[in-house]
Amino acid sequence: MPDRTIEALLLEDRTFVPPPAFGQTATMRDERVYDEAAKDLEGFWARAAGDLHWFAKWRTVLEWAPPYAKWFVGGRTNIAYNCLDRHVKAGRRTKAAIIWEGEPGDERVLTYGDVLREVSKFANVLKSLGVKRGDRVTIYMPMIPELPIAMLACARIGAPHTVVFGGFSAEALRDRINDAQAKVLITADGGWRRGNIVPLKRNADEALAGTPTIEHVVVVRRVGEAAPIHFQEGRDHWWHRLMADAPAVCEPEPMDSEDLLYILYTSGTTGKPKGIVHTTGGYMVGTYLTTKWIFDLKDDDVFWCTADIGWVTGHSYIVYGPLANGATTVMYEGTPDYPDKDRFWAIVEKYRVNIIYTAPTAIRTFMKWGPQYPARRDLSSLRLLGTVGEPINPEAWIWYHQHIGGGRCPVVDTWWQTETGMILITPLPAITTLKPGSATRPFPGVAAEILNEQGKPVGPNEGGYLVLTKPWPAMLRGIYRDPDRYVQQYWSRYPGVYFTGDGAKRDKDGYFWLLGRVDDVINVAGHRIGTYEVESALVDNPAVAEAAVIGVTHDIKGQAIAAFVTLKEGFTAGAEMVDTLKQHVVKKIGALARPEQILFTGELPKTRSGKIMRRLLRDIAEGRVLGDTTTLADQTVVQALKQRYEEEAG
Ligand code: ATP
Ligand code: MG
Repeated sequence: MPDRTIEALLLEDRTFVPPPAFGQTATMRDERVYDEAAKDLEGFWARAAGDLHWFAKWRTVLEWAPPYAKWFVGGRTNIAYNCLDRHVKAGRRTKAAIIWEGEPGDERVLTYGDVLREVSKFANVLKSLGVKRGDRVTIYMPMIPELPIAMLACARIGAPHTVVFGGFSAEALRDRINDAQAKVLITADGGWRRGNIVPLKRNADEALAGTPTIEHVVVVRRVGEAAPIHFQEGRDHWWHRLMADAPAVCEPEPMDSEDLLYILYTSGTTGKPKGIVHTTGGYMVGTYLTTKWIFDLKDDDVFWCTADIGWVTGHSYIVYGPLANGATTVMYEGTPDYPDKDRFWAIVEKYRVNIIYTAPTAIRTFMKWGPQYPARRDLSSLRLLGTVGEPINPEAWIWYHQHIGGGRCPVVDTWWQTETGMILITPLPAITTLKPGSATRPFPGVAAEILNEQGKPVGPNEGGYLVLTKPWPAMLRGIYRDPDRYVQQYWSRYPGVYFTGDGAKRDKDGYFWLLGRVDDVINVAGHRIGTYEVESALVDNPAVAEAAVIGVTHDIKGQAIAAFVTLKEGFTAGAEMVDTLKQHVVKKIGALARPEQILFTGELPKTRSGKIMRRLLRDIAEGRVLGDTTTLADQTVVQALKQRYEEEAG
């Protein structure tokens, strides 16, 4: 039987060396750190932990009984203390911690002193509502400062939070509240999105009809008169009323390293979301060090991660990582196209943002809109760019580098998951020579490997399954209330090894290239092809903005490639374009990757976090009933596509 590994097809050989300025000033610029960390994993992470505050030092750095890890065992700490009090005590009381911009253009700057006061007060509010250490608190909010304040207040008193993205429906909220068995819900009357109101409290009311564990609801007034709301006496409370009487001092709870910090549900790209469990000490150390080195934070930097805090990227790289470093973190409430398509660049210009961290889906959208939007604004403050969420197609990488980074900013393509808690595969900007489309190499101390079906490491440029062979501090500790699924999902394919669910290859220089989800791999006449490479070949054509590639059943080949393509503004769909694109793929990769079908579409079905949902495209192409669509951003996209597909297929 042939060894069924994923074929690695596309060759990308452009390289970018770190700019000299980085080599001279970066926080981490000594390549030996990789060897040191590999030789002494525990010593490496213990040194990072030593930068932070502990009420009691750990006895043991790591206890590893696969698949269960404990980090900084016996240590006592508080992550809110490390994110706030530590900096206030070190003279940063008046430094900006959070720069916030609302969608209508309102703004707030909160210093470390301000955030500490607000967090302490809200921690006292939670206590007054009967929230105790260990009680779960659900947070369903727009991107306003009260969101991180609520999270940090929970962390301060040891109540695990579970943030539900504000774009989710009442039903999704209800399911997550019930899974977490939360006692309190924190929400807002509404939030702004493209000039309209997202009726959060109304959705919450609908959810609350079926959530027996919720005792109290705290409501932030965000939109006021614009969205009148219903209040249930005794259960619902205004945030500002409760805060008015709350004492401004609240002692932080000394938490055990392994105490639950939060539960967060995954994006649901591959199926039903999983309630991922993160604990305190290791998560704190992992997000602290990765933020510091990967984003090369300087004391006067302004750092902007454009994710929503409802996703792990926002947890780790808007809230915990930047604040643990005493940095200035930017938060924006709205969408990139409101009031116009240059909103992100207007924010960069206005606050002189130095480091921006966004997603390939956003970058491909900016490409589709055209470079005239960033060109309107002064982006000269930027010195480093980051991306996360999906593989970035080389053309999108080059566009980002050129049109946003002005050709001078390194791009850190960071691979990680809700489950990993922290970035695991990434360049370090002063050390790593970059290749567009490659997340480059594992962070120091991270042991990543690519295995074939039999569990053997694959050779250079052969595709296989990305796994992690050693524990890392911010790793998940489980799936909430589902211990079997934890073992089944991540630790069963190869015993003692963490299975990521992603396909990858490593090139001759040892660089990692993510090839897409294992579930998305296509098998054409015995060749196993990752979706990413065919998509990147399509996006390489100047007419194409975005592409999603899937396998459809084929009598002779087993499977054939079908592509769903979005064109850039100004290009026309049609038979001629189909031929051009098929030829383009053949030229870039070879005949075996030629798409059998190409369908043009204005939009692709995506999760609410912006990822392409290929499983739904497969359902459409195979004429099946659509699978779980609750995490879809826009239901109409997939319905319209299904109809068109059926029409064209005859
Ligand atoms: P679910 O697990 O519920 O299907 P999800 O996997 O989309 O949802 P996340 O944890 O938000 O949930 O996403 C992690 C996944 O995103 C990774 O497993 C990988 O497939 C993809 N990803 C993230 N960053 C990168 C990157 N830099 N390059 C390639 N893929 C990435
Ligand atoms: Mg996943």
